[in-house]
Amino acid sequence: MKSSIRKRNALAEKLAMCPEFVRGSITSICSTCKRARCICPGKSSGMAYRLTYKDRHQKTRTVYVRADQLPRIRKMIANYAHVRKLVDQLVEANIDVFKAETRR
Ligand SMILES: [Zn+2]
Repeated sequence: MKSSIRKRNALAEKLAMCPEFVRGSITSICSTCKRARCICPGKSSGMAYRLTYKDRHQKTRTVYVRADQLPRIRKMIANYAHVRKLVDQLVEANIDVFKAETRR
């Protein structure tokens, strides 16, 4: 019982230490014509990046991301995968705590 609570609390602490996460994916567009497939005549002037995600109403949202912000937003997306894994582990840990309580 005590060990399952300890395990659960350790996971909750890990989750608390990972507050910076976003859900979504990064796409790149031409910074001039704003299209994924550039239609500019001649050479493209460069790429612009955006994060696309669904908000809590399942509406698709787009946030522009500066090129120098790419590593940071990629890290935040990776953190989201980590947080999801932690939440799954927490669900199992809480079931273990709950079962131990029921057995008493
Ligand atoms: Zn273009």
